[in-house]
Amino acid sequence: MAKDILLLCGAIRERQKQKNYQASVTPCKNCETLGVNGYGYCSDCYKAIIRENDTMMQLQEENQKIINSGLPLTDYDAEKGNKELLELVENNKDKSLFIASKSSGLCKTRTLIHVAKSRLKEGAIIKFFIVSALLREIAALFSYDLKEADKLIKNLCRIDLLILDDLGKEKLTDRAGESFFEIIAFRELEKKPTWITSNFSGEVLGQKLGERGDFFKRRIKDSYLIKILGP
Ligand SMILES: [Zn+2]
Repeated sequence: MAKDILLLCGAIRERQKQKNYQASVTPCKNCETLGVNGYGYCSDCYKAIIRENDTMMQLQEENQKIINSGLPLTDYDAEKGNKELLELVENNKDKSLFIASKSSGLCKTRTLIHVAKSRLKEGAIIKFFIVSALLREIAALFSYDLKEADKLIKNLCRIDLLILDDLGKEKLTDRAGESFFEIIAFRELEKKPTWITSNFSGEVLGQKLGERGDFFKRRIKDSYLIKILGP
């Protein structure tokens, strides 16, 4: 019995030796250096493959984070954009911002997206919405899944940064509109930054937003850094 085991151990050792020998004389699949591991690569190539794989996984993870946040994947060349605004946003990224301009093309949204992406990389939880799309989503959830609507609203109250793009096109008098103001007020209480862009000044927005206009104007005045761009 013991002899059998000894023979078996010897056979395994022999097979291992044979394998090691083969590995040491087999050329790498990538660079043909002799001596490969079980995957058929030399140790340098294998390390490089692992590194590349890690980078790819990291990139995929970063892209997934961007997709989850609602931010667009395409990158914006900040060097060609509105540098003054970029500096202002970067220096005040922990504050609530209200950025308005009558004309478009002043890079409001793109600048915010650019800075938001760098915050995303630092690990912040961010959501980006065009206001009309957010209101549509909340209204739709209200009509078929109150629990989900509630979950979304609570989530938007608590995330690190909420970006609300292009405010002022909608009436905000219905239930979804009420939720919109709830989110803004709650985030202010919690001292969580909200970034808002609009093609209207705070004054005009106040009028457009009907009975909630005064509430909104006060919020903006008290807790937001206001930047009006252009003429
Ligand atoms: Zn190699």
